Amino acid sequence: MASELEPEVQAIDRSLLECSAEEIAGKWLQATDLTRELYQHLAHYVPKIYCRGPNPFPQKEDMLAQHVLLGPMEWYLCGEDPAFGFPKLEQANKPSHLCGRVFKVGEPTYSCRDCAVDPTCVLCMECFLGSIHRDHRYRMTTSGGGGFCDCGDTEAWKEGPYCQKHELNTSEIEEEEDPLVHLSEDVIARTYNIFAIMFRYAVEILIWEKESELPEDLEMVEKSDTYYCMLFNDEVHTYEQVIYTLQKAVNCTQKEAIGFATTVDRDGRRSVRYGDFQYCEQAKSVIVRNTSRQTKPLKVQVMHSSIVAHQNFGLKLLSWLGSIIGYSDGLRRILCQVGLQEGPDGENSSLVDRLMLSDSKLWKGARSVYHQLFMSSLLMDLKYKKLFAVRFAKNYERLQSDYVTDDHDREFSVADLSVQIFTVPSLARMLITEENLMSIIIKTFMDHLRHRDAQGRFQFERYTALQAFKFRRVQSLILDLKYVLISKPTEWSDELRQKFLEGFDAFLELLKCMQGMDPITRQVGQHIEMEPEWEAAFTLQMKLTHVISMMQDWCASDEKVLIEAYKKCLAVLMQCHGGYTDGEQPITLSICGHSVETIRYCVSQEKVSIHLPVSRLLAGLHVLLSKSEVAYKFPELLPLSELSPPMLIEHPLRCLVLCAQVHAGMWRRNGFSLVNQIYYYHNVKCRREMFDKDVVMLQTGVSMMDPNHFLMIMLSRFELYQIFSTPDYGKRFSSEITHKDVVQQNNTLIEEMLYLIIMLVGERFSPGVGQVNATDEIKREIIHQLSIKPMAHSELVKSLPEDENKETGMESVIEAVAHFKKPGLTGRGMYELKPECAKEFNLYFYHFSRAEQSKAEEAQRKLKRQNREDTALPPPVLPPFCPLFASLVNILQSDVMLCIMGTILQWAVEHNGYAWSESMLQRVLHLIGMALQEEKQHLENVTEEHVVTFTFTQKISKPGEAPKNSPSILAMLETLQNAPYLEVHKDMIRWILKTFNAVKKMRESSPTSPVAETEGTIMEETSRDKDKAERKRKAEIARLRREKIMAQMSEMQRHFIDENKELFQQTLELDASTSAVLDNSPVASDMTLTALGPAQTQVPEQRQFVTCILCQEEQEVKVESRAMVLAAFVQRSTVLSKNRSKFIQDPEKYDPLFMHPDLSCGTHTSSCGHIMHAHCWQRYFDSVQAKEQRRQQRLRLHTSYDVENGEFLCPLCECLSNTVIPLLLPPRNIFNKLNFSDQPNLTQWIRTISQQIKALQFLRKEESTPNNASTKNSENVDELQLPEGFRPDFRPKNPYSESIKEMLTTFGTATYKVGLKVHPNEEDPRVPIMCWGSCAYTIQSIERILSDEDKPLFGPLPCRLDDCLRSLTRFAAAHWTVASVSVVQGHFCKLFASLVPNDSHEELPCILDIDMFHLLVALVLAFPALQCQDFSGISLGTGDLHIFHLVTMAHIIQILLTSCTEENGMDQENPTCEEESAVLALYKTLHRYTGSALKEIPSGWHLWRSVRAGIMPFLKCSALFFHYLNGVPSPPDIQVPGTSHFEHLCNYLSLPNNLICLFQENSEIMNSLIESWCRNSEVKRYLEGERDAIRYPRESNKLINLPEDYSSLINQASNFSCPKSGGDKSRAPTLCLVCGSLLCSQSYCCQTELEGEDVGACTAHTYSCGSGVGIFLRVRECQVLFLAGKTKGCFYSPPYLDDYGETDQGLRRGNPLHLCKERFKKIQKLWHQHSVTEEIGHAQEANQTLVGIDWQHL
Ligand SMILES: [Zn+2]
Ligand SMILES: [Zn+2]
Ligand SMILES: [Zn+2]
Ligand SMILES: [Zn+2]
Ligand SMILES: [Zn+2]
Ligand SMILES: [Zn+2]
Ligand SMILES: [Zn+2]
Repeated sequence: MASELEPEVQAIDRSLLECSAEEIAGKWLQATDLTRELYQHLAHYVPKIYCRGPNPFPQKEDMLAQHVLLGPMEWYLCGEDPAFGFPKLEQANKPSHLCGRVFKVGEPTYSCRDCAVDPTCVLCMECFLGSIHRDHRYRMTTSGGGGFCDCGDTEAWKEGPYCQKHELNTSEIEEEEDPLVHLSEDVIARTYNIFAIMFRYAVEILIWEKESELPEDLEMVEKSDTYYCMLFNDEVHTYEQVIYTLQKAVNCTQKEAIGFATTVDRDGRRSVRYGDFQYCEQAKSVIVRNTSRQTKPLKVQVMHSSIVAHQNFGLKLLSWLGSIIGYSDGLRRILCQVGLQEGPDGENSSLVDRLMLSDSKLWKGARSVYHQLFMSSLLMDLKYKKLFAVRFAKNYERLQSDYVTDDHDREFSVADLSVQIFTVPSLARMLITEENLMSIIIKTFMDHLRHRDAQGRFQFERYTALQAFKFRRVQSLILDLKYVLISKPTEWSDELRQKFLEGFDAFLELLKCMQGMDPITRQVGQHIEMEPEWEAAFTLQMKLTHVISMMQDWCASDEKVLIEAYKKCLAVLMQCHGGYTDGEQPITLSICGHSVETIRYCVSQEKVSIHLPVSRLLAGLHVLLSKSEVAYKFPELLPLSELSPPMLIEHPLRCLVLCAQVHAGMWRRNGFSLVNQIYYYHNVKCRREMFDKDVVMLQTGVSMMDPNHFLMIMLSRFELYQIFSTPDYGKRFSSEITHKDVVQQNNTLIEEMLYLIIMLVGERFSPGVGQVNATDEIKREIIHQLSIKPMAHSELVKSLPEDENKETGMESVIEAVAHFKKPGLTGRGMYELKPECAKEFNLYFYHFSRAEQSKAEEAQRKLKRQNREDTALPPPVLPPFCPLFASLVNILQSDVMLCIMGTILQWAVEHNGYAWSESMLQRVLHLIGMALQEEKQHLENVTEEHVVTFTFTQKISKPGEAPKNSPSILAMLETLQNAPYLEVHKDMIRWILKTFNAVKKMRESSPTSPVAETEGTIMEETSRDKDKAERKRKAEIARLRREKIMAQMSEMQRHFIDENKELFQQTLELDASTSAVLDNSPVASDMTLTALGPAQTQVPEQRQFVTCILCQEEQEVKVESRAMVLAAFVQRSTVLSKNRSKFIQDPEKYDPLFMHPDLSCGTHTSSCGHIMHAHCWQRYFDSVQAKEQRRQQRLRLHTSYDVENGEFLCPLCECLSNTVIPLLLPPRNIFNKLNFSDQPNLTQWIRTISQQIKALQFLRKEESTPNNASTKNSENVDELQLPEGFRPDFRPKNPYSESIKEMLTTFGTATYKVGLKVHPNEEDPRVPIMCWGSCAYTIQSIERILSDEDKPLFGPLPCRLDDCLRSLTRFAAAHWTVASVSVVQGHFCKLFASLVPNDSHEELPCILDIDMFHLLVALVLAFPALQCQDFSGISLGTGDLHIFHLVTMAHIIQILLTSCTEENGMDQENPTCEEESAVLALYKTLHRYTGSALKEIPSGWHLWRSVRAGIMPFLKCSALFFHYLNGVPSPPDIQVPGTSHFEHLCNYLSLPNNLICLFQENSEIMNSLIESWCRNSEVKRYLEGERDAIRYPRESNKLINLPEDYSSLINQASNFSCPKSGGDKSRAPTLCLVCGSLLCSQSYCCQTELEGEDVGACTAHTYSCGSGVGIFLRVRECQVLFLAGKTKGCFYSPPYLDDYGETDQGLRRGNPLHLCKERFKKIQKLWHQHSVTEEIGHAQEANQTLVGIDWQHL
């Protein structure tokens, strides 16, 4: 084939093939100038092998290159045949103890949370499974490509660095041995030669930039005019743009264009045209012109083919080098040596340097090839890794600048190798000390951020898109800094100290540029016009958060460094603020005889900034100092004397005041940007280095100040000084002059200020501030989160700050504070707070948002009420402060504080209007409570020689000093205790008074026996207790009443539909508990019930009344009344399919009369069971249609249902429906009124029917012969001699009302339309067949569900299923009345002929190819059309019975023919029971009829067993069918679960228990029938093994088996490549859960055309595998995908859970995931129940965004 297309290429091939590698290598060995020799060889051959035409032929090129180019090199290198040489090298090699496996895109990687030094340390799956970490807490992620396995790297793991496989080689790694000693001198020399020349060649050709000229020594003698138009990748243009442009420029089809675009995206370049220069140049100009309009044009080059050829070989060469060094560590070392050897041009001239420095100029494909080579060589050799790291650091600035200006993603840049180098602790340390890496990184970063304001601070205010782009790229430098700092030094050398502090200086410079950036001023009057940019500054802050924390950690590990850093930081802070005044006016404040100097500054009027990283860093360092030993022993050595507390607190205080003012609504006009900033300031992502540190800074400052002074400054900054310094100020509120808004603002500010004081005294859970450790801190966070509500693991993780290792430290403490509650079938596992932890709850926990605070308050009060405790939420007992912060508690008893408390209590006592608020009071009460707790603790811990200086109780007992003559705080509290308007706070006030008394008692009694509180108080308390008990009782009664009323109200409010929806969803689960009871009121307990035949149990007819859900009118179901209908949903189904490759080819010609036993495509009907009048439904549907049309015109939105296809939602339960089923009485009873006696037996009946059929066929033939004269016709009829009583001209009267007839047609047509996927046509003869088929298929699918779940056949069925089956069966039975009698008769004849052959039907399927239940249903339901013309006295019931017996016998034959006969004939002649001998006899008959083709005779026991098992599903289906058809109640025995109901079923179905008796009773006719069945050629073919057949019982289809561990799925998917784009990894591998196919979803490459539209691989697959419905698992997202048709879909929760009982959709958290069998079963159940489409409908109704997704492209 190829020879015809390219004869020229073929010809050259031959000349190339004559080359001998050995000869060439021999020539080279003799050469004096090897370089020249090699270059000549390459110059000659490379262009002959590569790039010979428009399209590459990779296999052929590779083959030739190996033969002509690489082969000789291998010979040369080995000095012998490489087939012997390389194995020798490999043997001599000491294999590496490093794994170094380079990850593919999507491959799973594992990191151990316990042992990994940092989160970038990962293992490949194989190493992980062989390591100790598989039993640790690990995290799993999918690789983005690049990076390698760290197994064997001792620096990467705290423990277990080797897996089992790599451990074997660790014995000698201690002494570092030169790997070259294992190689001979000769090999070393030759390797060196060949590596040096070839590596240089590859580098030179890859970085070659000329387009039509080769390097001199490679230039050819004669050059052809063959060029390529080469298109390069960029990240600017979209796929669509490129495809469109290419179609225009090079005249290709869309498919080709897609191919080009895909390759360009993957490899970074692709030639799009081949030809002479002119021809290529032309294409280039079109492309450039077409893409230059909006953005920069696509990069295109016209390159000479020989250059491209050499470059392609260059890449091949690099991969070759990578594989050669795999043979031996020695070869690898030589390559490293060659690569890093300095070239003739000095600095930066080594090959490695040259490649790195050209990185940004190379295309993607070239980059990834050489990056991989670096990883497998330089990074795998411990010695050269160090040298390479130095080269990398020296070039760092250049590489980063290149990267910032380049537009490729980071993963394609050599800069990305930083993670491999910097995260190695020893390398990082070495680079810091020797190359000053920290400073270099920070300075490079600063160099790229040049926008500064007048003060030199960063300015992001109006930066451009380009700057934003650059800013994003620069952020990777921060990541590098993080890598460098990620492992803290365990030992410090002087050099390290010096260089670290140098880096710290640079870092401070960076923070200095951030201190005070983006300042804001309060907007008054008008709203701001443009929201200022704020995100960039916060992004920077967020990215730096971990770096700042790590800097502090480093400082903390060495005291000298800490003190130096502290000094440096302080100095920079001073520079930033030049003292603290910034030129503001000094003023003096005084309250209660205290006065302080400060400045006049109003947050609400002047500039203020939220960014204060320098002061926050200082706060962090201060805490570290406080924790250090020096602080306890020699505090005088700390550099604290230089601190000016007012300066320290000034800016953090301003920032906190800003937040308070924003809360008070004073900054509304500044818009959302400010609101967002305040949000992030407190958010868990930022707060650790923002809000938290501001609080610490205030604590630091205040601990060094007179608390009175601080409080006055604080009042002043909150702009509340006036209020508290003027005694009568409170009264002024009541006058109407004051603006109400201002008063409310002030109230909020007072509340916020009190909150801040609570924080300053109460927040002591940071180690260093209080005497606590990190565990206490995290415990407290968790307690407070869980105080709000129980939480799932992931929720909790999200609410806690993560460190740089993404750890919250939660696991270590969670058990101590919470109980875990496992998840059920839905939902997640939850943590609940242990009750004993409730006492540690602090209502004013500083990380609560306001919403969380009020939720927590409510929850905690509720809990207390439930425990019948009082509802006071007193402050918890706190740990003591560290010495440096110890004086903070004095704020509580300072004069100004007491004054503030007194004033507010006074307001509360006066209770005048809106001058005060309850929250204010609540906070004061909390503060008083804190002070009492504090004093109590002081008293408890007091030692003999110390005097307790904390005397709060004394102070509040004294009458107040200000306002003058006011009562004491204590007195006011006692007054408030009885205030009627403070009901809520009474418990708290009571708690305060009680605690006060207790503390007083302690103080009065001797300090050595402080616990004397109880006895004294009892007397006092009794009267109070009584009062309290009474009050409590009343409150309890009131509460109960309230709750009752509330419950009633909400009951009423609850939406009716919602309520019902739940109900119906429950009934979906076939659970006994939720289902309704069948109307199977036993007629008589001891009577045998019979479902069919002349002996059918007669049931007195029950009148049935139903209510229309739309008009609420009640109506009786009668033959002649208006139709009542049930909403129904008809869909095609392959759920039962045994052959998924089969589908209907041409629906217009397809004949569905016989269902094949593989059930490859059926029609399923379901219903929610809701009943409406037919006319009510029609009106409803019309209105839905009209509404939808209007909506589509207006919004162009789609709903979850497709109105044009007749879809609608059930008006009551919103269940997806597409038609309605009429509600009918048992139709058999209408026709079967006569009482017959003397009925024919089976043989007689078959004869009669055969005669009738013959007559009909004769008449039919007559009719279809148009030219016959009528006279002749009638003569012939006479001739025929009609069977007795048969009147073929008789047309029965249709008993149904018009409206019911209409509905019969409607549903029939719908079933036909959906089942065959054709246009509706009510006249089509296939309509009745489809109706019978749907009835049979639906019954079969329900029987399967019941069997699979071991549910009894007639157990309590959910009423919707019961209603659906009853209506569907009766409908199918009544449908013939609206169809043409002769058509139905025709169907009957043909169906009948498949069992009782006659002459007129030739091509009927053999009995192996008929599903007997479908046949039974169709025969029984078509029979009335024949029987209605029979007046001979044969009843319908007799016919039913005979048909049933006949089909049953045919089925038994089917089973016997296909039964497995692997059983040996141990007891074949020795049958033990009647059934066994009977079946054995029958089998022998069969054996005879099949001409002994049937396999040898197995045992009777075995045969009988297979018959019984094989026929059970058929019997069960038949029982269901006749039950619904005839309305005979089911026998009670079948209603309960049990092993087998074989005998009961037989009785119910009028069958002998020994089924074989049927044959014996009717042997006369059966023998001839069996013979005719066996004679069929298909049966013969089957028996001779030429074809296959379905065996019985058919096994239920299951969803595929999923592995227990999710990572093995990921691994499987990562090995999966797109089937269409040649070995490319698929981006969205998706697993069909039905058949197990892996698909390449959501990608251009695998789109196919379906019904004229492009659809993705999943949608296409649903059409073949699930007839439109699909269940998939998106492996990389861990998400279940449901699809239905082209437009509908939804995501469903996956069956994989982590240890915390949560799913991880999107695989974001990376916790190990395991299969949850119950959840998977639930998905399978949805599938079996045909509820997938409905589930999608519900999901889409609930979440409108799902409607907008382009499902068809998945
Ligand atoms: Zn590995
Ligand atoms: Zn390993
Ligand atoms: Zn581990
Ligand atoms: Zn109605
Ligand atoms: Zn409904
Ligand atoms: Zn499939
Ligand atoms: Zn694909």
